[in-house]
Amino acid sequence: MRSTEIRRIFFDYFTSRGHTRVPSSPLVPDDPTLLLANAGMNQFKPYFLGEVPPPYPRAVSVQKCARTSDIDNVGRTTRHATFFEMLGNFSFGDYFKAEVITYAWELLTEHYHLDPDRLWITVYQDDDEAADLWRQVGVPAERIQRLGMDDNFWSMGVPGPCGPCSEVCYDRGPAFGPAGGPEANGERYLEIWNLVFMQNTRGPGSGKNDFPIVGELPNKSIDTGLGLDRIAAILQGVDTVCQTDLLAPTLAAVERLAGRPFPGRDGSDESVSFQVVAEHARSTAFLITDGVLPSNEGRGYVLRRLMRRAIRHARSLGIDGPMLADVVTSVIDNLGQDWPELQTRRSLILAVVTREEETFGATLRQGTRLLDAAIARTRATGTNRLAGETAFELHDTYGFPIDLTLEAAHAAGLTVDSDRYAALLDEQRRRAKKSGKGKTADTMRRQDTYRAILAEHGRTDFIGYTHTSTDT
Ligand code: ATP
Ligand code: MG
Ligand code: MG
Ligand code: MG
Repeated sequence: MRSTEIRRIFFDYFTSRGHTRVPSSPLVPDDPTLLLANAGMNQFKPYFLGEVPPPYPRAVSVQKCARTSDIDNVGRTTRHATFFEMLGNFSFGDYFKAEVITYAWELLTEHYHLDPDRLWITVYQDDDEAADLWRQVGVPAERIQRLGMDDNFWSMGVPGPCGPCSEVCYDRGPAFGPAGGPEANGERYLEIWNLVFMQNTRGPGSGKNDFPIVGELPNKSIDTGLGLDRIAAILQGVDTVCQTDLLAPTLAAVERLAGRPFPGRDGSDESVSFQVVAEHARSTAFLITDGVLPSNEGRGYVLRRLMRRAIRHARSLGIDGPMLADVVTSVIDNLGQDWPELQTRRSLILAVVTREEETFGATLRQGTRLLDAAIARTRATGTNRLAGETAFELHDTYGFPIDLTLEAAHAAGLTVDSDRYAALLDEQRRRAKKSGKGKTADTMRRQDTYRAILAEHGRTDFIGYTHTSTDT
């Protein structure tokens, strides 16, 4: 089943059950506490918090999500991407646990035709109600596991709604690891859908991130997230999210450039690199589309890091020439039907990635030379710890990213004095603030370039414009 069909079935199922179809919010959220949209519920937060009355009692959406925290998992696990689509149904004080469990089960088994015998459920340890409801739809007790606060209790990190959650996982069989259920093995028992039951409320406690549960919500709500990439992997019978139709044409573009096939999920560096290039190209396209431009801080840095990581992994595959525009073009061509904004922004996206690849090429050549010399010097002194000063100088003077320093040092069997690096960075930021000169000449020059690109390709009310101003 193609991903377009998976989205359509999801919308049809929930709109025919009274849910209002709501478009994805942009990746750049209208919420100062959030770097990038990372879940379907983000745009509905004011309704859950009771700050704004919900305009509809039920909603359904496909949300564009970014999770940079998963960056190191890309290609290493089969299930993590830095950009993915989250299908979600929501109830704002309307239906609750019994309905959402029935919906999820019916949709998965009768509309997506997943084998019910392969589905496993996790519930919060004290949530007998949820366990009973799953039993009632037909899940045998031995495939329901109870997990603690860390795994199956959802909170926002502030006083407000919270509650237990329950997840649906799919057993992909012994090729993905030993038995034991989702509690034992997240790769074999692929988590696909998280159902959050907002039923409690946290109040102000000591104020130090300690917000005790103080009661029950008068209007219990539902928030769910089904990973499109993951269910597509199952329905399309492929091993990893990078091999679904969401990314397969992009992986094929990387294969063409590398002149050899993707080796599959074999755990090799080569396998990781193929997936990183394809996956990061997709995040890159979506971030630029939603108004992010490369910079050295905040969202702009997330984008820059993704592009630079993609470029570096491409180099390690032996792809030497410019490649990012080619790979990103495959993303636009493949997903532009479902996400038309990619098409609208095509020329901007390509101009930005081309420019970044040029700049980074120069940085990389210079930085690698310096780093290699520093590694050799460190070794010669008989220590295996690269000085924080070296990492800082590479970052500060040459724009060489710290994660590259860490990876190169690691590959050479060295550690990096990260504490010292962080202290120097901190010091430099304070100095910059005090002198009122937050921006180096180099950064300003680069911003000007991106502004010029924007003037040529984008609108003037483009959100990315304001975001570049957070550059230091
Ligand atoms: P995992 O434990 O596998 O990291 P999660 O518990 O962090 O997933 P949730 O926060 O519960 O994920 O998000 C809801 C759903 O979104 C998940 O069940 C999954 O289907 C999907 N999802 C989460 N993170 C990713 C990711 N990095 N790439 C692709 N899909 C994801
Ligand atoms: Mg996770
Ligand atoms: Mg999880
Ligand atoms: Mg989860």
